[in-house]
Amino acid sequence: MLLEGKVAIVTGASRGIGFAVAKAYACEGARVAVCGSREETAQKAVQELQKLCPGAQLLPVGVDVSDGEAIRTMVARVMERWGKIDILVNNAGITGAKPIFDMTDEDFESMIDINLTGPFKCTREVAKVMKQTGGCIINTSSLVGTYASRMQTAYVASKFGINGLTKACARELGPYGIRVNAVAPGVVQTDMVAQSVDGQMLAALKGMTPLGRVAQPDELAGAYVYLASDAASFTTGAILAVDGGIVM
Ligand code: NAD
Repeated sequence: MLLEGKVAIVTGASRGIGFAVAKAYACEGARVAVCGSREETAQKAVQELQKLCPGAQLLPVGVDVSDGEAIRTMVARVMERWGKIDILVNNAGITGAKPIFDMTDEDFESMIDINLTGPFKCTREVAKVMKQTGGCIINTSSLVGTYASRMQTAYVASKFGINGLTKACARELGPYGIRVNAVAPGVVQTDMVAQSVDGQMLAALKGMTPLGRVAQPDELAGAYVYLASDAASFTTGAILAVDGGIVM
């Protein structure tokens, strides 16, 4: 198993891409802190994961990534349970579309708080303990971190920011043996897409994708396993596109 003995934190793991990553990590032998924005959603995800990966060691954690105190508690709970953190996946995120003229300060700030400041705070708090042992951090970026879409000022800014955060942290944390990379998904069939992309737009996105379809969440998980594994021991600062070729 590729992640035997490793301890991982995955944020936004209650569903979608994060759930698929938590499942893949657990099946590869990692002990996984399965984080949802609330304790109940994290517990529900753990119950589902126990059925899919019998015997997996899982810790449900409710943590709103816009809450710095909750992030410190998350790190403390994982350290208390398992005594180390090898892998952090900053995956929790939200999206939204609005013309810039209608986008309020609050709209913009809440997106940045969750999608960019949250990963910064999680990285800082985890790196404080990870620097003793080394480890890896994987951020979830997006195709819009390279190719800006219309009506998504805040979301696009947050994902360009994630790419910058990834590279800045890779440079600063490399000397501590901490690798920092990002996965940039294309269009993935999750609740986020179901709630924000209509049928016409979805058809257009499929048409722009060389593979001619959207991804299922499990198709993203392999990239996160690879980046967390020893197979990626010399990879840092990379933004790995898993997007069916939509951006190239
Ligand atoms: P999703 O809506 O299915 O899941 C999002 C997860 O983030 C959920 O577990 C949710 O509870 C959690 N979350 C939201 N706000 C939170 C908060 N304040 N604190 C803690 N957790 C919070 O979405 P998804 O499609 O699985 O998206 C996961 C990541 O992938 C996001 O960062 C998203 O931007 C990115 N992404 C998704 C797509 C796509 O097509 N689905 C494409 C590119 C990037």
